[in-house]
Amino acid sequence: MPPAPTLDLLLLPSWLVPVEPAGVVFKDYALGIRDGLIEFIGPRADGMARSAVEVLELPGCLLTPGMVNAHGHGAMALFRGLADDLPLMTWLQDHIWPAEGRWVDEAFVRDGMDLAIAEQLKGGITCFADMYFFPKIAAERVHESGMRAQISVPILDFPVPGARDIDEALRQGIALFDELRDHPRVSLAFGPHAPYTVGDANLEKVRVLANQLDAPIQMHVHETASEVQQALEHTGERPLARLARLGMLGPRFQAVHMTQVNDDDLALLVENNCSVVHCPESNLKLASGFCPIERLWQAGVNVAVGTDGAASNNDLDLLAEVRTAALLAKAVAGSATAVDAHRALRMATLNGARALGLDALIGSLEVGKAADVVAFDLSGLAQQPVYNPVSQLIYATGRDCVRHLWVAGQALLSDGRLTGFDEAALAARARAWGERIAASDAQ
Ligand SMILES: [Zn+2]
Repeated sequence: MPPAPTLDLLLLPSWLVPVEPAGVVFKDYALGIRDGLIEFIGPRADGMARSAVEVLELPGCLLTPGMVNAHGHGAMALFRGLADDLPLMTWLQDHIWPAEGRWVDEAFVRDGMDLAIAEQLKGGITCFADMYFFPKIAAERVHESGMRAQISVPILDFPVPGARDIDEALRQGIALFDELRDHPRVSLAFGPHAPYTVGDANLEKVRVLANQLDAPIQMHVHETASEVQQALEHTGERPLARLARLGMLGPRFQAVHMTQVNDDDLALLVENNCSVVHCPESNLKLASGFCPIERLWQAGVNVAVGTDGAASNNDLDLLAEVRTAALLAKAVAGSATAVDAHRALRMATLNGARALGLDALIGSLEVGKAADVVAFDLSGLAQQPVYNPVSQLIYATGRDCVRHLWVAGQALLSDGRLTGFDEAALAARARAWGERIAASDAQ
């Protein structure tokens, strides 16, 4: 038998949680990476028998798949803390939309996206879904950074920064699809903003194009009770039912929020095999409602988790988000057994990958998948003693414990430090934007 090929990197953590198979914790295992893929998973002794260019001992560390932030608006990181403690429509109409009209241009998206990418990498996120203006700039920043993302082409009925009307937005989107067709880390989706900002005619255009390009659709749906109520008053139809009638729903449909779910809504999600992206902290902060994730899960709906934008959260901390999700699910379901720690981690990894149509490539630690991996350091006082590393990760660990992170085998975070960004320069750029925006009238 020929000798096994040399590994590029052999990781030797105290614990390894593959997420698939579910509920498993391997102790003293090794993970080997070669050509950006996971080449080996097995007992430490078997791993040590393999030759490797680099061997990294990770005592006290837990290795998991990289986390997938399934919904956000990255560049809005520059609006973090601009308008707080307001209901959704007041926040949007009186603060965020005017500020976007005044400030969002290519430079804003470039700097905001860099800030969002850096924050997410430091927090253990290897892949994120983004919905914002100037998607071409966002895609370029992701490409440059080495991170992985689904970038949505934003669709609204009114003019937006970067596109005078929907036809221009769609033309730009098609060109971007062509450009990125074979990109190994950047995928594209359509992002019609919400049922109340995109009419039937434009949704029909999105549906036709998404079918032609076999592209996912990500959309805010049923974010608040009043969204559903107003639609019922005006049209007699719930927004999700309208989307179903228009043929928008399917396995590539990502319904963000879904705080309002009646029996008919649940049946539509199940029949169409849609994913739901749960953003509990944004929903809590805007008092939008509670997505009944335990009920969705029991019905077989794929539930992922997202931070939403930093203007409504106010961070891109998916580990904190999933902790909130696990705690809130118990309160909403009235059951302490709802969403246990393993399921919470699955929601932040494999379910996110599945929502984005990337589960054949990422979301679990399995041989042949991309080496998108995070090492969490559980050796600190606040994590002692470690009976169950997954429980410790979800319920007792903050993102400051992220020690190393790889995307497609490339180290983007090493010993807590970003390898591709100058953190002081990033912070200085963000501060400069903040000072300009704070000094203006159009906040
Ligand atoms: Zn959002």
